[in-house]
Amino acid sequence: MSVPLRTAAVVGAGLAGLACARALAEAGVAVTLFDKGRAAGGRLATRRVETGGRRLGFDHGAQYLTARGPSFATVLETHAVRWPAVADREAHVGTPGMSALPRALAAGLDLRPSRSVVGLARRERGWILRHHEGDLARGPAPDRPPEEAGPFDAVAVAVPHAQAAPLLPPALAASLAPVRVAPCWALLVAFDAPVPLPDAVRPDSGPLAWAARDSAKPGRTAEAECWVVHAGPDWSRTTLERRAEEVAPELLAAFAELAGALPPALHLAAHRWRYALVESPLGAPCLVDPSLRIGAAGDWCLGPRAEHAWDSGTALAAALLGS
Ligand SMILES: Cc1cc2nc3c(=O)[nH]c(=O)nc-3n(C[C@H](O)[C@H](O)[C@H](O)COP(=O)(O)OP(=O)(O)OC[C@H]3O[C@@H](n4cnc5c(N)ncnc54)[C@H](O)[C@@H]3O)c2cc1C
Repeated sequence: MSVPLRTAAVVGAGLAGLACARALAEAGVAVTLFDKGRAAGGRLATRRVETGGRRLGFDHGAQYLTARGPSFATVLETHAVRWPAVADREAHVGTPGMSALPRALAAGLDLRPSRSVVGLARRERGWILRHHEGDLARGPAPDRPPEEAGPFDAVAVAVPHAQAAPLLPPALAASLAPVRVAPCWALLVAFDAPVPLPDAVRPDSGPLAWAARDSAKPGRTAEAECWVVHAGPDWSRTTLERRAEEVAPELLAAFAELAGALPPALHLAAHRWRYALVESPLGAPCLVDPSLRIGAAGDWCLGPRAEHAWDSGTALAAALLGS
């Protein structure tokens, strides 16, 4: 009989990590959740900006959430509201911004924000995590050795596949090879006057794939007309390593072409999502080594929607509990 699982570390507090952490905690496991960001959410993100005394908000990652299975449907019923602008589906959003949904799901969990996990080591008494303060991708390399946390009976790695690879044992990391994830440049732009477009637009040609009047989503408090515009995967790939300051005006020009004419911009910024939308998933709910009690989860296991991340994290918790 296997030793019961008493403690676990979850790396990544996006939807996959939150689903995994909640399921483990519900089973009585003491869970510690680490994320390099300042709060839970990952790609369910809202950027808040103040400009000229006005408060603005942009959901610059996931735009709306849909559920096909009962588990995620319950999450949306509890923590999100309908957004009727996308008429063809049961689209839901968090309020007053998308990031409110993961924050609600993180309530009651032992979340350590602003911790970048840089290594995992299996010792006799369990898994040790090595971590640095802050998001290492955004700052200079630290001049101090990493801190350690643990030991933990099990570890769940719930980060994008390319960021999971260096943390996982080689046999699990090798399974990630077929996974493909497209990048996405997002434009965050605010205006003083209405833009002559419907609340949600999905262009079928040109550099843009999506544009939405974020300030018209339910429950928003923005004090100007705020838009989020996403470039398509081809355009995002060819411009991936360019600076946000260069990309923003180009996306604005493409948006002006779509709208016909635009009022002057009050705020303009671009955000690069290096791992945005899954193109080729793993094709399994999660990756796990039951003997080592380590596994990985994320949307990249199952597909491009947030629900895939939720289902993958839930599956990983079940696999670790069964091990
Ligand atoms: C532009 C864009 C538009 C989208 N639109 C939609 C949509 O309309 N509908 C939809 O359903 N889905 C959409 N998605 C996809 C959806 O956002 C994702 O499927 C889902 O959020 C993925 O959750 P996750 O937990 O797998 O990963 P993430 O949300 O990426 O979470 C991973 C977490 O791990 C953390 N992390 C990474 N490395 C480390 C480390 N070394 N140490 C500590 N923490 C680490 C990150 O900070 C992050 O919080 C969109 C995504 C993007 C980017």
